[in-house]
This record gives sequence, structure tokens and C-alpha cells, in this order.
Amino acid sequence: MRFDLVTIFPGYFASPLGEALVGKAIESGLLEVRVVDLRPFSEDPHRKVDDEAFGGGPGMVLAAPPLVAALEALRAEEGAAAPHVVVLSPRGRRLDAALARELALRPRLVLVCGRYEGIDERVREAGLVDEEVSLGDFVLSGGEVAALALLEAVSRFVPGVVGEEDSVRLDSFEDGLLDHPHYTRPREFRGLAVPEPLLSGHHERIRRWRREQQFEQTARHRPDLLDRFAPRTPEDRELLDRVARRGRTP
Ligand code: SAH
Repeated sequence: MRFDLVTIFPGYFASPLGEALVGKAIESGLLEVRVVDLRPFSEDPHRKVDDEAFGGGPGMVLAAPPLVAALEALRAEEGAAAPHVVVLSPRGRRLDAALARELALRPRLVLVCGRYEGIDERVREAGLVDEEVSLGDFVLSGGEVAALALLEAVSRFVPGVVGEEDSVRLDSFEDGLLDHPHYTRPREFRGLAVPEPLLSGHHERIRRWRREQQFEQTARHRPDLLDRFAPRTPEDRELLDRVARRGRTP
């Protein structure tokens, strides 16, 4: 899968793209990530890409001409898959696991990082934007961190990027529930013991304990997820029932 990151701060991505899972996926060719510096697309002699807002007010706006030129160049690239263009923006669709999974089906994403007050609305009006995505209801100073979050969340769904296929399947949100808690050595730490079922060596007990904990954690931290959860097994029905009843007793 290919990502093109359009930014006025190309240096921003050097270390995150060189490390850990994403770094390895790039090295092995599972992901191809190109950082596209917006400035060379500016016709201005000083490579200026921003300007004052019409109507006045504080803050600059990323101008339409360089961005449109960059997006058109990316779309016109020969031999490359047609890009799905995503602008990172607080007004976009909130990023979640479902959206990440959906975007992972695209062969190529172009992620446009805004800066300052945002980008000239005519980039969207000109029909060059397929989708806007937000990280949440807060304002970042630029789209770079949001683009990295999106890239990392999406790439977990690209086959092979996460080594143990199971670890994605078992992650939070995959089946509508949060993950269960995890423990590692030492067995006892500051008087705190590891829950007994995990030490039992009994696979079925461990599985049941973890499943129950998923319901427990979801009820405690994200009751909104439980409202939407549709149990598919008798065990899940029983566990859902149990946490629901517990929730109702004060
Ligand atoms: N004036 C805008 C904020 C601009 S912040 C507003 O109030 O909505 C500058 C850039 O940061 C944006 O263009 C966008 O690319 C990025 N950004 C800020 N907050 C974001 C968020 N929650 N999700 C995704 N991108 C965000």
C-alpha cells in the first residue's frame, strides 16, 4: 500500500517512518511512503505557500494553487494506483477502527496536512478531495500528527504489517469490545499478584477469564460500546447480561 504525505514540514516524518512496525513495513516493501514537500509546487519566487485570509482575522491560510498543483501531479503520476485523497481536518469524519479498516482497502492514500488556519476551501471545491478525516474534537497545529496516526492505524490492517495476525484480531474495537488487561513477569510486583486464571496453564479458563474481562473493561471504560454490542454466542450473551445487571445495581 502506498501513502503520499503532502506537507510543508517534510522533515517532520523522518523518525516516525524509520522506526518500529511502520519502519519495518516500509523497509520490507509492504508500505511505500512518500513525503511530498508542498513548497516546490509554489510559483512564488520565495516558494511561499500561505497567505492572509480574505475578510481579515488572525492567522494565515494555505493557498489553493500550490496544493492543487501538488494533488494534480500526484493524480497524474503514471503507473501508480489512483489516489484516494484525504485531508486531515477537525471537521472530517472521526477516525476509528472501522474507518481505518476501510481506508486500508485503498491501494494508495494521499494525506494532506493542513497548517495555520487550514487550507483554502477551493481545493475541496475544485473536486480534488475525496474525504476529510479528523483525529477528534480538538485542534492540532498541523495535520502531520493526524496523518501519522491515520497511517499507523491503517497500516495495521495491511496484511503482513503486524507480524502476528492474531494480535490485530484481538485488539480493542475489533469485535466491538475493549481488550482485556495484560500481565507479564514478575508474578508478584509490590504485593500485586497476577490474576490466578492466567497462571493456571488451563487454556479454556484463560480464554474465559479474558473474555469476561473484555466485557468488564468495556462496561467500566466505554459503556457506549456495550449499548451497540450484539452478542453472537451463548457465552457472550451470558457475560453481557451479567455486566448489564451489575451496572444497574448501585
Ligand atoms: N482553523 C481550523 C484549525 C486549523 S489547525 C479550525 O478551527 O477547524 C491546522 C491544521 O491542523 C488543519 O488544517 C488540519 O490539517 C490539522 N488539524 C487540526 N486539528 C485536527 C484534527 N482534530 N484532526 C485532524 N487534523 C487536524
